[in-house]
Amino acid sequence: MGDPVYLDYNATAPIRPEVIDAVAGAMTEPGNPSSVHGFGRAARRIVEDAREKVAALIGADPAGVVFTSGGTEANDLAIQGSRPVRIAVSAVEHPAVLAAAEAAAKVPVGGDGVSDLAALRTLLEDWRGAAPDDRLLVSLMLANNETGVLQPVREAAEIARELDAVIHTDAVQATGKVAVDLTTLGVDMVSLSAHKIGGPNGIGALVLRDGVEVAARIRGGGQERGRRGGTENVAAIAGFGVAADLAGGELDAFTGLAALRDGLERRLLDEVPGLTIFGRGSPRLPNTSCIAMPGVAADTQLISFDTEGFAISAGSACSSGKVATSPVLDAMGATPEAAGGTIRVSLGLHNTAEHVEAFAAAWLALCRRVGACGARAA
Ligand code: PLP
Repeated sequence: MGDPVYLDYNATAPIRPEVIDAVAGAMTEPGNPSSVHGFGRAARRIVEDAREKVAALIGADPAGVVFTSGGTEANDLAIQGSRPVRIAVSAVEHPAVLAAAEAAAKVPVGGDGVSDLAALRTLLEDWRGAAPDDRLLVSLMLANNETGVLQPVREAAEIARELDAVIHTDAVQATGKVAVDLTTLGVDMVSLSAHKIGGPNGIGALVLRDGVEVAARIRGGGQERGRRGGTENVAAIAGFGVAADLAGGELDAFTGLAALRDGLERRLLDEVPGLTIFGRGSPRLPNTSCIAMPGVAADTQLISFDTEGFAISAGSACSSGKVATSPVLDAMGATPEAAGGTIRVSLGLHNTAEHVEAFAAAWLALCRRVGACGARAA
């Protein structure tokens, strides 16, 4: 077996060498960014330089960037920090949003994985009609982590604006993979995470539109303009800045990954014409493919592919490594058999046509071995 092939970029992207250099460099700065002396000012410069780079990635004002411990905390700050009376989320949000918005109403998605905006409008109109002054919040992810399906966030933002609701988008999976612009989207808040774009784990940001505020969830020394207490993680922030800068310059190359991904899907579909690939007909991230091998448990597939040197993921195992039936696929109306046998392949810029071809061969071989692919592939 050759080197293992990493096909799990939606779980995390390998850290960039330039990020490692930036992190290491920042770690040798002894200052606290809140200190007034020269050491402190040097650390502050690192943080503010990174803030500008992160803001630039999504066309935001640096003053709106609140550094957090990652996408999970950014989602929590957006949702809980907005102090909403009522919350609407899509049925396919990441657990970080669902946990922060436990009492939320779920907006359904179709079989294509796209949120039903008519249902969102009806919900907001009902709420607004019943309580004209309530603070309403919509949280709609930009790209789904399991299927890659892009959600109609710009259109949802128009509806939210009409009905005087605040709108947040979890753009953790979208940034660096497709163009994301806070103003074009028309949203109030955007969640980002560094490790999905080749930055360090454990650092992210909530980015606020001008004039939008959140109440701090972590209070302390008033850092991050009072929105998130605690001495800044200068080294991780420095790495995030470099990753954001580089990711912004690679968007075209990332778009090109669709050719590799589509090649993989065509190869499998040629052999298995009835194959289910979730979200295939919808606007999707260029790197993601969510492939069902019905009746073959996703964890069995994971182990088999891992043994053969391919790192992929079960749809819902984004964070914990646990494999359970995916609520995202359930919401899309997948049968338990298909949902339980679905894996996620997510490509990155290190992947080649050879990687994809080798994985396709391994997938087809497994499918034949277990008799899951019908006569044509047998
Ligand atoms: N939101 C989405 C859509 C994700 O895919 C992830 C990834 O795990 C997160 C939020 C959580 O981000 P983090 O790992 O930085 O906490």
